[in-house]
Amino acid sequence: MTNIRDFSLDKHKKTDDTPYGGGAGMLMTPDPIARAIEAVDPNHEAWRVYMSPRGTTLNQQKVESLAKEQRILILCGDYEGVDQRVIDLFIDEELSIGDYVLTGGELPALVTINAVARYIDGVLGSDASTEEESFSNGLLEYPQYTRPEVYRGVSVPKVLLDGNHKDIAAWRLEKSLEITIKNRPDLLTKADVGEFLPKKKRKHRK
Ligand code: SAM
Repeated sequence: MTNIRDFSLDKHKKTDDTPYGGGAGMLMTPDPIARAIEAVDPNHEAWRVYMSPRGTTLNQQKVESLAKEQRILILCGDYEGVDQRVIDLFIDEELSIGDYVLTGGELPALVTINAVARYIDGVLGSDASTEEESFSNGLLEYPQYTRPEVYRGVSVPKVLLDGNHKDIAAWRLEKSLEITIKNRPDLLTKADVGEFLPKKKRKHRK
């Protein structure tokens, strides 16, 4: 982690100032940020991301594409954000973690790092997978159960105990669809459910 304040030439290590044109709050000044970025990535080898509520929203597809980068530099804003020239001169992409405003970019950066790290070999246990999770096929994940078979009077759905993989796949797709329709209907327009449908049903799809 790099402390931008260490790159301030001001004798009080100041890194903020009032915005031109007026308005509430302070902005991060460009020079300490520019120096910090040039110190950690002098040849612009990293994909440079600025965490910002006005960026495109982080999603699983974006996480996967970030995971393919050799190196990522994440700039965390504070106060009311950063001078626009920092973004124009040094940043490849503005990324938001959702439609709400936090006080600083540190938590958004941690969220991004955690999501990306799951695609790095060795981070997940050998039996964990990123392939059958929420968003992997555009849908939310189906309900999962483990032992015991009956807990406080509630049984594991019978289909999961019968060992018929086709039936299990169909049940999981049905539940994924139900949950997605209930919680995130907006995802359905982008979802790719074709590969999860049994072959004979797929023929009826256009
Ligand atoms: N004035 C800015 C605006 O309206 O877009 C908000 C600045 S916010 C108070 C301070 C910093 O927190 C931002 O520069 C950014 O780095 C970070 N931040 C806040 N909310 C965020 C979000 N939803 N996603 C990513 N970063 C966020």
